[in-house]
Amino acid sequence: MDLSVVIPLYNEEENVNELHTKLTETLNKLSIAYEIIYVDDGSIDNTLKLLEEIQKNDIHVVVLSFRRNFGQTAAFAAGFDFARGDIVITMDGDLQNDPADIPKLLDAIKDADLVSGWRKKRKDSFLSRKFPSIIANWLIGKVTGVKLHDYGCSLKAYRKEVIKNLRLYGEMHRFIPALASWYGVKIKEIEVIHHPRRYGTSKYGIGRTIKVLLDLVNVKFLHSFSTKPIQFFGPIGALLMVLGVIIIGYLVWLKFSEGVMIGRRPLLLGGFFSVLIGLNFIGMGFLGEMIVRVYHETQKKPIYILKKILGPGD
Ligand code: UDP
Ligand code: MG
Repeated sequence: MDLSVVIPLYNEEENVNELHTKLTETLNKLSIAYEIIYVDDGSIDNTLKLLEEIQKNDIHVVVLSFRRNFGQTAAFAAGFDFARGDIVITMDGDLQNDPADIPKLLDAIKDADLVSGWRKKRKDSFLSRKFPSIIANWLIGKVTGVKLHDYGCSLKAYRKEVIKNLRLYGEMHRFIPALASWYGVKIKEIEVIHHPRRYGTSKYGIGRTIKVLLDLVNVKFLHSFSTKPIQFFGPIGALLMVLGVIIIGYLVWLKFSEGVMIGRRPLLLGGFFSVLIGLNFIGMGFLGEMIVRVYHETQKKPIYILKKILGPGD
């Protein structure tokens, strides 16, 4: 199998048939062995029914149907788990991405491991989608160190090895390039077409921004410290403890050398809190260390990812 196309759909009944027609048109021209994996993310309209019809008449189609709405990231993850192609392409199921871009992506991935689409002329509302996305893109670039113009574009191509190593949670699909680049993969960004949504409604609004920001902090933390939590919590805890001890020391000195009453000083409370919170941080760091060990050792999860193994005979 050369190519798997993974498409999440949630209540996209008006788009399904046209999407499949356009997709098939493009893919059949390529003369490669391909499959299309439609992931029905618990739609409550006719999406699943239409997909079942399509599947019956097309041997290239696999339909995965979720019991309930698990979200776009989960839909991608399911698609990745079932994908058999050497290259995996993801795209939206609402016809905002254009299947006609697929050949361009396949071309670009020849000398890369991941190709990310850039919706240069994005056709979404400015206030609720484009503006938050400008800020989010800037922030994600700063925090992850992976420079892309458009993280949110679903139209992406991956080499199989890249996605098989990924574990996705929350709303994390937009961080795949960052996660992957931390493994050391080569990323390219190319301009892709973007259409306004013609049928159905967008499943997201401004509320998504806050989730993305939380996920960003999460991803950054996990990347930097997930195998060494004490190195994150330890210094903060130690700093707070030292600060607390200095404060308390100062107050004790005031009391004994100057005879000042310190019992009612807010600073005293501050000093004690600082020591206690510092202790907590250090404790959390060590708890984290234990959790990391349990996680990696019980599940035989390595803390590294190999690209190749060469030995005698290779
Ligand atoms: N989607 C999904 N599950 C969800 C929300 C969205 O599978 O919980 C799908 C949706 O059907 C579409 C794609 O993800 O194919 C992108 O969603 P949408 O078009 O609403 O996002 P936008 O383009 O507005 O960012
Ligand atoms: Mg859309």
